[in-house]
Amino acid sequence: MSAAVPNLTPSQDAREFLGRDHRLFIGGEWVAAGSRETIEVIDPATEAQLTRVAIGGKDDIDRAVAAARKALKGEWSRLTSHERTKLIWKLADELDAHLALASELEVLDNGQPLMIARYSIQAFGSEFLRYYAGWATKITGDTIPVSPQGVRNGESLTYTRREPIGVVGAIIPWNAPLLMAVLKLGPALAAGCTVVLKPAEQTPLTALLLGDLCRKAGIPAGVVNIVPGLGETAGAALAAHPDVDKIAFTGSTEVGKKIIAAAAGNLKRVTLELGGKSPMVVFPDADLSRVIPGVARGAFFLQGQNCMAGTRLFVHRDIFDRVVEQVGEAASKFRLGPGMSPDSDLGPLISAEQRERVMGYIDSGRTSGAELVCGGEALPGRGFFVKPTLFANTNMDMKIAREEIFGPVLCAQSFRDSELEAVAAEANKGIYGLSGSVWTRDISVAHRMAALIDAGQVSINCHAAVDPGIPFGGNKQSGWGREFGREGLEAYLKTKATTVMY
Ligand code: ADP
Repeated sequence: MSAAVPNLTPSQDAREFLGRDHRLFIGGEWVAAGSRETIEVIDPATEAQLTRVAIGGKDDIDRAVAAARKALKGEWSRLTSHERTKLIWKLADELDAHLALASELEVLDNGQPLMIARYSIQAFGSEFLRYYAGWATKITGDTIPVSPQGVRNGESLTYTRREPIGVVGAIIPWNAPLLMAVLKLGPALAAGCTVVLKPAEQTPLTALLLGDLCRKAGIPAGVVNIVPGLGETAGAALAAHPDVDKIAFTGSTEVGKKIIAAAAGNLKRVTLELGGKSPMVVFPDADLSRVIPGVARGAFFLQGQNCMAGTRLFVHRDIFDRVVEQVGEAASKFRLGPGMSPDSDLGPLISAEQRERVMGYIDSGRTSGAELVCGGEALPGRGFFVKPTLFANTNMDMKIAREEIFGPVLCAQSFRDSELEAVAAEANKGIYGLSGSVWTRDISVAHRMAALIDAGQVSINCHAAVDPGIPFGGNKQSGWGREFGREGLEAYLKTKATTVMY
């Protein structure tokens, strides 16, 4: 296994993009940051500096929020819902037209394999936008058949209007940067909101590209504003801002709690998509030809830097050794390398810091008595590569089995109970409740177990089935609210009840 792939020179388009003066996108213009501070953007596969981008501070966030507030009341509010649909659809078309550049920038910035970037930017980037473009014309209120103030039936009318929640602050992580931006923009724009987007400091490039695409699509100035910046400065200023109506956050549970505290000042609405430690439960009758590749992908997709990653594997003891051996073989076959190489199945982790964090967990697994089946090492040389790692015979007293690692580490433990409640009790241990999967051919076991798993989303005979139309979000400390689907739109709307007495 080697990460050494020679000469993957970026395309002319990417070189031109990287060579730009990267500013903040506020009020439809590229503007300099007040502080003139910049941050370096690193290619995690080579550790080389790709470029530097301007980062915004509190004053820049103030400017962006003011631009978003102005736009909320301006031309944007007078567009028909059909016109909003067309603009969001146009943004999707622009994203498709720039798919090659968007995918390449995503790979250079984040490290993920090119094939995954291309596929996901289409399936969850432009198609996600089109899904929400369709919702703009389907936002309806109700008429309520009551007669308040004691008036006789027929002498009053009560109806509700669904209004945009207002100015939205979107704070997103580095693991799938463009998709995360689109996940916030799609429903926000469909609802008629305006947005200040703060990408993660590690991965600002595709968010900046989105600024260009919004302009090309004709989205009115100030409707989408993009301010790269640090979490503790720009992010914190956005979360605390008195003129922001809602924060849509994806990231760690720890930062999610800080967002809630910061949002309390003006009681802004908050939706949170946070961490996970999702179980994959395999029953003895499961079809192993699906389980092995499915479980390996579920655990190691995006190098395990994925909130839905299946990181705890529960296997019935009758097939435990066989499944562990085969998942270990599948994991060892993944080829690590730069995302731009067509031979790479898995890319690097995002940063040296993340690699150290993951290696720390792997060391704790070794010393806590878990059995290392495969992996357990970082690759020497340049790039933040860590081999996919499988530990067997873990239990929930171990740190590696309890805490979210956000790296390529899978923990396996066996179960023997035929009592589903007992299996679920073990699978539900811990503070998270984002995702989960059940693997069996028994339809009753499948649905009963799916109902018992305490998570916002459970898949049967696959892991992490996502689609723009399927609600997604966490129970317990995995989050507040749901994204995707109708519920994802509702999180950007507020209700006004109006009563008229005739
Ligand atoms: P991850 O563990 O995936 O890096 P984080 O929760 O640290 O996730 O970061 C997710 C996003 O939250 C990033 O855009 C980051 O800049 C931002 N962030 C970090 N700290 C804060 C904070 N105190 N307030 C607001 N945003 C923050």
